[in-house]
Amino acid sequence: MSYRSIAIDGPAGAGKSTLARKLAEKLGFLYVDTGAIYRTVALKALWEKADPADPVQVVPLLEGLEIHMDYENGEQKMYLEGEDVSAAIRRHKVSGAASQVSAIPEVRAFLLEFQRKLARERDVVMDGRDIGTVVLPNADVKVFLTAAPEARAQRRLLELEQRGEQADFDAILRDIQERDWQDEHRSIAPLRQAADAALLDTTSLNLEQSLEALLSLVKEKIAL
Ligand code: C5P
Repeated sequence: MSYRSIAIDGPAGAGKSTLARKLAEKLGFLYVDTGAIYRTVALKALWEKADPADPVQVVPLLEGLEIHMDYENGEQKMYLEGEDVSAAIRRHKVSGAASQVSAIPEVRAFLLEFQRKLARERDVVMDGRDIGTVVLPNADVKVFLTAAPEARAQRRLLELEQRGEQADFDAILRDIQERDWQDEHRSIAPLRQAADAALLDTTSLNLEQSLEALLSLVKEKIAL
């Protein structure tokens, strides 16, 4: 039997992970946050005091890299060398480092099979930057989820404040724009909408409306 897959790509802060998680929950599919995997590689680089932008320092760390994924009450947990790093990888410093390590071809190649294997074993909703274009080019449903940078920065601000972290709107906006630029301009697997992906712009939609729109796109493509 072949499994079904839903690919959700888009820039930072478009609401991909929240929506993808909720969608997976509704459908009974496995939710895979691929950004978390890149973040875990970035954390390893930071642990080793390697420059995340330098392939010469990062690539040797891939050999023997001990990354493990698990689920707890439907929530994806990341383990690095046996340690639960699910909270640590959300730190601001790790976001920038993840964007840097993800531009290294060897890092992408290393994670490609890791991601594909998950989709071979389960029905998945996978979110990232290159899922519809590179990782799962034959996904049953492809959605490119986006929103205006200001709307994405506002959402990120709220998220950080709810976690009790200090945050500043202008700094977040700059950071989002910088990460967009890096993700869109890297030579390997740049962030772009797959030709056969549906575009969903959530700038003026709340979470509930976005989920509804997403669900109707999915229903157009697969029988549930
Ligand atoms: O989605 P999230 O913000 O957690 O991703 C962190 C970084 O990982 C992104 O800025 C992007 O550079 C990288 N990434 C990627 N390909 C993916 C998922 C994430 O390059 N499929």
